[in-house]
Amino acid sequence: MKALVYEEYTTDDDFSKILKIKDIPEPKPKSNEVIFKVKAAALNYDDIWGMRGKPLAIPLPHISGTDAAGEVIAIGSEVKNIKIGDRIVSHGNMSCRSCKLCTSGREYDCKKRKIWGFETGPLWGGYCEITHLPEENVVKIPENVTYDEAAAASMTLLTSWHMLVGRAKIQPGQLVLVMGGGSGIGTYGIQIAKLFGCTVIATGSPGKLEKLLELGADYAVDHRSDFWDKEVREIAKKIPKPFGEKPGLDVIFEHIGGSHWNKELSLLKYGTTIVTTGATTGYNSKTDLRHIFFKGIDILGSTQGTRAELEQGLYWMSKGKIKSIIDSTYSLEQAAEAHNKMLRGKDLFGKILMKP
Ligand SMILES: [Zn+2]
Repeated sequence: MKALVYEEYTTDDDFSKILKIKDIPEPKPKSNEVIFKVKAAALNYDDIWGMRGKPLAIPLPHISGTDAAGEVIAIGSEVKNIKIGDRIVSHGNMSCRSCKLCTSGREYDCKKRKIWGFETGPLWGGYCEITHLPEENVVKIPENVTYDEAAAASMTLLTSWHMLVGRAKIQPGQLVLVMGGGSGIGTYGIQIAKLFGCTVIATGSPGKLEKLLELGADYAVDHRSDFWDKEVREIAKKIPKPFGEKPGLDVIFEHIGGSHWNKELSLLKYGTTIVTTGATTGYNSKTDLRHIFFKGIDILGSTQGTRAELEQGLYWMSKGKIKSIIDSTYSLEQAAEAHNKMLRGKDLFGKILMKP
């Protein structure tokens, strides 16, 4: 079967030099595994870290791909809840499921956790025609959700859901600022906050503002402007709160970092929350601690989420309340181009898919 393979790391981010289409043997199921024909897979930034071999020297030869959706074509002897013909999507967080963290519902913090298609291998990920996963690491795709939508959602919808629902515990009537609303997690963040009855201010680059409003954001602000924070503050002032509270932001959904961080903290009112994952423009942000202790701000870190949270998100997708925004779709043969597009990030809106 066909697979997208690399046998060495890139030294110059020219992915076309290392990515090759290879013919490799089809997998056979272990007793707890399902084998599925990949219909769609979504790109994530860990693909690029993998190809660089930094910050982690991942196993070589390597097949990337953490988010894959497809049809089950074989199952192992001990598989209980999945049958041949089922439509499934990966839950790429491979945790041990028996440690204290896993059994207390924090599988994303498991010390033995590996991310499928990133840390696994050799030759074990989603960018191929047929792949395999333990039964625990797949979720059935509900009705009305396509393979494309499910692949795009997997890690990304999960991450956004966990940030807002699992960590920040958003409530109806709150005012949520979604930074980088046009990114994969941003597009889900806007929709999840709206699903929970929040008012949403989303930020993005100038070309994306109209799309953010179409997606459900109540206000859209250009975060490349030097005065983006002032604009957010002015909008927030005008939005009345339930129960006569003072107007202002309740929650910031943050994944940008860099120079935006301190401005974000300054925008929060007393006793509110910022939840952060990733840091796409820099992780070494300075913090004015006065914003934190004077105002009693909760800073919450977040990474991925639980399989149950993925199922919750997909349920609302099947009900038409959340949709996956697909930026573009490539073939495996076009993988270098697809990853270049993700690396540049320019004009991206939503997720990039690849299909075998
Ligand atoms: Zn564990």
